[in-house]
Amino acid sequence: MGSRSVSVGLRAMFSMLTPNESSFERVEEVPPYVQQATPFFVGLMVLELVVGLLKTGRSVVTISDGLTSIAAGMVSRLPLLLLRGCELSAYMYVWEHFRLLELPWDSAWTWWFTLIGVDFGYYWVHRFAHEVAVLWAAHQVHHSSEYYNLTTALRQSAAQQFASWVFYLPLALAVPPSIFAVHIQLNLLYQFWIHTEVNLGPLEWVFNTPKHHRVHHGRNLYCIDKNYGGILIIWDRLFGTFAPEEDKVIYGLVFPIRRYESLFVQLHYYRYLWKKSKAYKTFSDKVSTFLKGPSWKPGKARLGDHVDNPKVTGREEPHRPSWSLPLQAYVAVHFLLVLWTYHELFQNKMMLSQSTLLGMICYILLTLTSLGFIIDLTLQRIDFHSLTCADSCSTDGGHARSKVFPNTQHSSRLTTISQLFFSVLLCFPE
Ligand SMILES: [Zn+2]
Ligand SMILES: [Zn+2]
Repeated sequence: MGSRSVSVGLRAMFSMLTPNESSFERVEEVPPYVQQATPFFVGLMVLELVVGLLKTGRSVVTISDGLTSIAAGMVSRLPLLLLRGCELSAYMYVWEHFRLLELPWDSAWTWWFTLIGVDFGYYWVHRFAHEVAVLWAAHQVHHSSEYYNLTTALRQSAAQQFASWVFYLPLALAVPPSIFAVHIQLNLLYQFWIHTEVNLGPLEWVFNTPKHHRVHHGRNLYCIDKNYGGILIIWDRLFGTFAPEEDKVIYGLVFPIRRYESLFVQLHYYRYLWKKSKAYKTFSDKVSTFLKGPSWKPGKARLGDHVDNPKVTGREEPHRPSWSLPLQAYVAVHFLLVLWTYHELFQNKMMLSQSTLLGMICYILLTLTSLGFIIDLTLQRIDFHSLTCADSCSTDGGHARSKVFPNTQHSSRLTTISQLFFSVLLCFPE
């Protein structure tokens, strides 16, 4: 990698590219900035780990939580091996058939207008993702860690992209897809480094910073449904969703899941919503379960209320499970192998057939989910009681979920699926 591409790659992480160097005429010319950022993701995560160790004497990330977050990031990008992103495909369709005017692709004005337009679109994508339960079912993945570090930034939903594209379509009436393709990537990259513990003084007025985004990840009452901004925080100040950081922020979901299996992390909330809606009698209540806020119940306002939430005292510690060192090493080594396979796959995807790509996607998914099962099952044996509690507490008062997943039945189901996955994997050695 030349020094110029290192400089571009590093500045792309902070949305600090100039219009001159990042305006392109055709979509095909737009660099895959997110894919090219992998070395910076890894470098900054290692740096955070080392600085954290030196400052506090303990690791800021655990193997179980960190690997689950990175696995979610990998799963969320697997569809891109087969399709151009949903956001870009829909955008290009609207541009080709319905555009009203063509802003010049090589004008700095177009570039700045798109930066602000994409960020405004992101504010609404994000706000809807928190305020509409069926969209929250996807976005909760990003909030499901009780830690706040750079690995948390990678914990992304695979399903969210299938809904978020709608919010960017107004831009397609005037902005060329090539400029949109640059900013949709830069907006995402900017949100990586804000998952840290740095403060930035006066910049906090205009920009979304680690301090503001920490609040967004909090489960304290004052943090819920606040600070949706992507690059700019001004949208939250304008639309009344801004909250400054006050009491110590306790991170994660209001009812922590404390589970590490990739498909469970991605999909569990859909199942919960389905069960919740079945418990209601009227059609309108059933539909409202999906379309109103995640905390909504019949007779409550659109977003529900949080009176039943567990009280946050500020003394809560993130779940730090203890499990044997050899098993941790086993999981970590296998994870690194699959991470390498994933990286190589993205590097060589143009040379592989669709069926090979599909096979490799299944292989990566099965391996990640199997490693997650190993962690879940190990912890289930070691800490069965607290996991039982986490399961039965993770809904409104716990009643709905303990009916959905009676724990003995649940663990035997896990074992069966896990065994099935291992059998499949043994048929296809690496
Ligand atoms: Zn969010
Ligand atoms: Zn975040």
